[in-house]
Amino acid sequence: MRDERLFKAIAKEYQRQRHNIELIASENYVSKEVLEATGSILTNKYAEGYPSARYYGGCEYVDEVEEIAKEYLKELFKAEHVNVQPHSGSQANMAVYMAALKPGDKILGMGLKSGGHLTHGYKLNFSGSLYEAISYDLDPKTELIDYDLVEEIALKERPQMIVAGASAYAREIDFKRFREICDKVNAYFFVDMAHIAGLVAAGYHMSPIPYADFVTSTTHKTLRGPRGGIILCKEKYAKAIDKSLFPGSQGGPLMHVIAAKAQCFYEDLKPEYKEYIKNVVTNAKVLGETLVKGGLRLVSGGTDNHLLLVDLRNLAITGREAEVLLDRVNITCNKNTIPNDPQKANITSGIRLGTPAMTTRGFGREEFIMVGELILETFRNRDDEKALEDIKKRVIDLTDRFPYLPYPEDYYA
Ligand code: PLP
Repeated sequence: MRDERLFKAIAKEYQRQRHNIELIASENYVSKEVLEATGSILTNKYAEGYPSARYYGGCEYVDEVEEIAKEYLKELFKAEHVNVQPHSGSQANMAVYMAALKPGDKILGMGLKSGGHLTHGYKLNFSGSLYEAISYDLDPKTELIDYDLVEEIALKERPQMIVAGASAYAREIDFKRFREICDKVNAYFFVDMAHIAGLVAAGYHMSPIPYADFVTSTTHKTLRGPRGGIILCKEKYAKAIDKSLFPGSQGGPLMHVIAAKAQCFYEDLKPEYKEYIKNVVTNAKVLGETLVKGGLRLVSGGTDNHLLLVDLRNLAITGREAEVLLDRVNITCNKNTIPNDPQKANITSGIRLGTPAMTTRGFGREEFIMVGELILETFRNRDDEKALEDIKKRVIDLTDRFPYLPYPEDYYA
């Protein structure tokens, strides 16, 4: 017996995903196979513990599933030890902190307003309340990480751990330089590569694996898998990490999600995935160039990865207004603070745009130029209902040319 009200809501979301240009930098469209694994009967199974050391019977097949996921993940990043059980990126990060630190220890991460994540020491997050969190911000002129400043803060504050990685930073991160700073102050080096993991896997961003003590990621962003987290570390930390996740901070693993992660890593090891990431990066540059030609400013002047941070101040429109306006024409993105943003975090002066999702749909250079022009046209016509209606029609036409149809058209009818 199905709850019609619920399935109608899911059906509406399916149509929204099909007919919107999805530019949220942390989202993607998974394959049919990833969806199939996520929706599989593995959701019925309890499997507390790790393969061959579970606290429940009947785990022989889910053991196989978890071993497959681990094998592919190790191969993908050339990691010594991996843990595929974190329910999310935040849980993965919590397990790392708990494995390496005591409450009250000092951590140094990128400030939230500069593009860091909540779990890198934000005061309302566990990372900022359990630990003494201090932060580094960007160079106000270049809007890039100022490694000399990070070093200066580290030498003065002597943190037990330095965190690199971000949610809204469009440039390459120099993990080697971070390692050198960590070594000077004898701090652990932790990299949260959630946003750029796909680029690392495909060779389009420096890998943190040779430099970091601990690396985490989500699996649902550029890696194009189910919602979830992973931890990668050197063998010497394997026991501490595994213990910290289970029983330290989680109970039973989501075996259906672990199966979907395995399918995702299997796909990410294919040559087609390298080609996909190459296109993600090229498309971000194309979109950025189109917006700059149209008079917008990009934070740091451009992008090296899959995302752009757009400064909207010269259009006299806030990030919040832009998000709502673009939603109106079926273009989805999120408002985002820009470095030294004069606006509050729930208003902002910028938007964050990413190319992973629409590149999965097959958008290339030509389509991303169109996307840039549609965005500019939307801003120019913000008070013209008829013009906005016309832009929305063109957006829907474009999405219909690049369908997302993991289920038959009438699946949710
Ligand atoms: N780390 C970074 C850098 C992120 O951008 C995010 C999510 O956006 C996370 C961690 C947290 O992931 P989750 O939402 O799965 O907890």
